[in-house]
Amino acid sequence: CGIVGYVGLPSQLQEHTALDVLMEGLKRLEYRGYDSAGVAVVANGEVQHRKKAGKLANLSSELEQHPVDKASVGIGHTRWATHGGPTDVNAHPHLADDDQLSLIHNGIIENYATLKQELLADGVTFRSETDTEVAAALLAKIYRTTGNQDLTRSMQLASQRLEGAFTLLAVHADHPGMVVASRRNSPLVVGLGEGENFLGSDVSGFIDFTRDAIELAQDQVVTITPDSVEITDFMGNPAEGKQFTVDWDA
Ligand code: GLU
Repeated sequence: CGIVGYVGLPSQLQEHTALDVLMEGLKRLEYRGYDSAGVAVVANGEVQHRKKAGKLANLSSELEQHPVDKASVGIGHTRWATHGGPTDVNAHPHLADDDQLSLIHNGIIENYATLKQELLADGVTFRSETDTEVAAALLAKIYRTTGNQDLTRSMQLASQRLEGAFTLLAVHADHPGMVVASRRNSPLVVGLGEGENFLGSDVSGFIDFTRDAIELAQDQVVTITPDSVEITDFMGNPAEGKQFTVDWDA
């Protein structure tokens, strides 16, 4: 339902952590309605995630009881359940690749049942009832095989196989300085900062931090690092989004 992504230089930590940015963005996106919320950050070589059914306040108290380490990269999600009830386990992020890969998703993967059969036959085990966890497992499988552990390439290849509507954001412990995202039939906007970049399902996700934005077109993948934004189509060809400035008062 609501999506936020962030990557900054370690020096940005004096201003804000990834978690600060994610929680601020998720609050701004609350107006869309949701039933669960979760975040993942990459810190000290691992993905750390927290997720809770219910309001953001539940996630905040979970984070108070079980804090994550200070991080410069992360993803955050508010869920409106379509596949699997609104439980802690079904909340996003979903993990794969021995919990090194973390993925959030807006929308519906129409062919998730077929893909799930294929992955189950490969020996993959699933924890949730969501279509999203299938996308996470598919991305992980591709990452370890045809994707050559290149997260961007793997996202392109995974996106080619997914049907339906999706905005996907992924982080991986192997790649602590990037967030990779993809979209089809579901919106995704990049926020441009100085030494940091943002992603949002809409500009509310990062409006407190920047007003310079790029709207992605249909069937595009974007990789953000603290100082670069690279957009391609699902085949890997370079592509461009539509740059604009947010002019409304937040
Ligand atoms: N289909 C996914 C789920 O039920 C994502 C729903 C959403 O857009 O929040 O978990």
